[in-house]
Amino acid sequence: MKNKIIAGNWKMNKTRAEAEALLKELLPLVADAANTVIVCVPYTDLYSAVELTRGTNVHVGAQNCHWKESGAFTGEIAPSMLKELGVEYVVIGHSERRTYFGETDGTVLARTKAALAAGLKPIVCIGETLAERQSGRMEEVLTRQVTEGFKDVTAEQLADVIVAYEPVWAIGTGVTATDEQANSAIKFVRKLFADKYGKAAADALYIQYGGSMNDANAAGLLAMSDIDGGLIGGASLVAAKFAAIVHSYPSDGKR
Ligand code: PEP
Repeated sequence: MKNKIIAGNWKMNKTRAEAEALLKELLPLVADAANTVIVCVPYTDLYSAVELTRGTNVHVGAQNCHWKESGAFTGEIAPSMLKELGVEYVVIGHSERRTYFGETDGTVLARTKAALAAGLKPIVCIGETLAERQSGRMEEVLTRQVTEGFKDVTAEQLADVIVAYEPVWAIGTGVTATDEQANSAIKFVRKLFADKYGKAAADALYIQYGGSMNDANAAGLLAMSDIDGGLIGGASLVAAKFAAIVHSYPSDGKR
């Protein structure tokens, strides 16, 4: 049985001092977690986060990386720069980046491959907008995002990838997909990966749900057959709430 991977996405929140305070509060609360815990923090908090979590069960991720190793890309950060800091994970293709910063399936693919080449584990975000869901295009959009966004990612590389299914209409809105909506979309995504990489690789792939997951709804979502964890925005900024999500599966504390 898989454990769950619970990742916080702090987005553009927390100065270095605030990040240190949040982590110091969080670490003891999740020290005995049965699930994998990741915090994806702003670039300016990465150094402190890596130092503070050293020797603990909490892993550190960034929220983006470029696809080139170096060069004239003002404002960008190379995967090797993250790796050297001790960062293990990196969020790629979050819907906020797709919406506000021109991220496409092509740039998602390029960033994912560069992250993998540097030894980082990408958390690749996919998901449909409300308009796409309401017009019956959810499956078409997810199919395109998986087909284009993983075009020449190999089966071996896929083993180091986490996928986050994040319906855009549920992110930061307080509207959560129902347990069944999230599970059936993730089942569909898993089938796409099974068609491309085979059933064993697709079953082994961690696919998280993200979108207004919180301490009240996490247990139901994480109990679903295909939901392998959560990518959590707002609720990851409050140590007690994030810790409650981490501990909400398995609900009886046993595996
Ligand atoms: C996210 O940022 O990936 C996210 C799911 O945000 P929220 O939990 O706030 O909806």
